[in-house]
Amino acid sequence: MLGKIVVHGGAGFWKKEISRGLAGVTAAASEGVDILRRGGSALDAVEASIMVMEDNPVFNAGKGSSLTVAGTIEMDAGIMDGRDLSAGAVALIRRVRNPIRLARIVMEKTDHVLLAGDRAEELAKIFSLPEANPITQHRRRLLMKVKKGGTDERVSWVRKNRELIEGHPETLRFDTVGAVALDKEGNFAAAASTGGPTMKLPGRIGDSPQIGSGLYADNQVGAATVTGLGEVAIKLALSKAVCSQMEMGLTARMAAIRAVRLASNRLKGEAGVIAIDKTGRISSVHNTPCMPWATSNTRAPKPKARPNGEIVALVRKTA
Ligand code: ASP
Repeated sequence: MLGKIVVHGGAGFWKKEISRGLAGVTAAASEGVDILRRGGSALDAVEASIMVMEDNPVFNAGKGSSLTVAGTIEMDAGIMDGRDLSAGAVALIRRVRNPIRLARIVMEKTDHVLLAGDRAEELAKIFSLPEANPITQHRRRLLMKVKKGGTDERVSWVRKNRELIEGHPETLRFDTVGAVALDKEGNFAAAASTGGPTMKLPGRIGDSPQIGSGLYADNQVGAATVTGLGEVAIKLALSKAVCSQMEMGLTARMAAIRAVRLASNRLKGEAGVIAIDKTGRISSVHNTPCMPWATSNTRAPKPKARPNGEIVALVRKTA
C-alpha cells in the first residue's frame, strides 16, 4: 500500500512568515515520509512530523507557542492510533519541549487519554523528556499588541472572541500544527499540537488534545486533524464529524468541505481540516485565507507544500 502523510501549519492569516511556514511544513512532511518509506508506522510518522514543527518557532506549537493573557504558555497536544483507537493527550503544558511525545506516553504508559498541568509534567520527568522554555520574543510582542487594544485581564476569549477578532485579527494567526498519515500496512494515525489562541485565559483547553474534536483516526475509516478556533471544533466534534462522513462513503475532500462549511454556517468560526480516507485520498480544506500544508507519499517522497488548501465558505477575508 502507498504510504501517505499530510501536515498543516495552522489555519489563519499568514503574511510575511509564509515562506518560513512552507519550509517548516515541507521539513515536517519529509521527516514523516522517511519513516513511512522505511516501513515505519503511521503513528511514528505523525509524531515525528509534529516534533519537527514543535521545534520550529514559526509555528504555534512547542517553541514559539502563543501566550495566554497572563503572558504564560500552556500547550496542548494529542495523538491517536487508528489500529485500535488508542489515544493520548496532554493539556496546559508549560515546560516540555515536545508535548506530542508526552501525549504518546499518556497513550502507551497509562490507562488514561488526557492528562493536564503539573501532574502531566511530572510524567514527562519520569520518562526523562527534555524540557525547554518555549516563550519567544515574537509571541511577547504579539501579546502586547493585542493587549493594547483595551481588552482587560478578565477578557473571556470564548464570549468576547468575536469582538477581539474584529479589533485584532492578528489573534487569528493560529499556526497550530497537525498531521495525518497512512502507512504501508494500511494503518492510520492523527496528531495535533498547539499553544492555543493568543490571549486565551489561563486554564483554557482547546480542541487539539480532545479526541473527536481536534483529531481522530480509525483504520476502518481514515484520519482527520482540525485547526482553527478550538471552541468551534469542540462544539461540532469536528474531526469525528469528518470521519463519520468518510464512514458513510464521502471522500476525504467532500467530508472536509462539509465540516468546514458547517463551522462557517453554524458558528461563523474559523476551521481547517486535513484528512485521508480509507482509499488514500487526501484533503486540505479551510475557511481562512491561509493554511500552509504539505503532503508526500512513499512513491514520490519529495513533499509538495502550498500556502492554501481548498478555501470554502471564507469567514474573514483580511487581517
Ligand atoms: N485549534 C487550536 C486551539 O484553539 C488553535 C489552532 O488550530 O490554531 O487551541
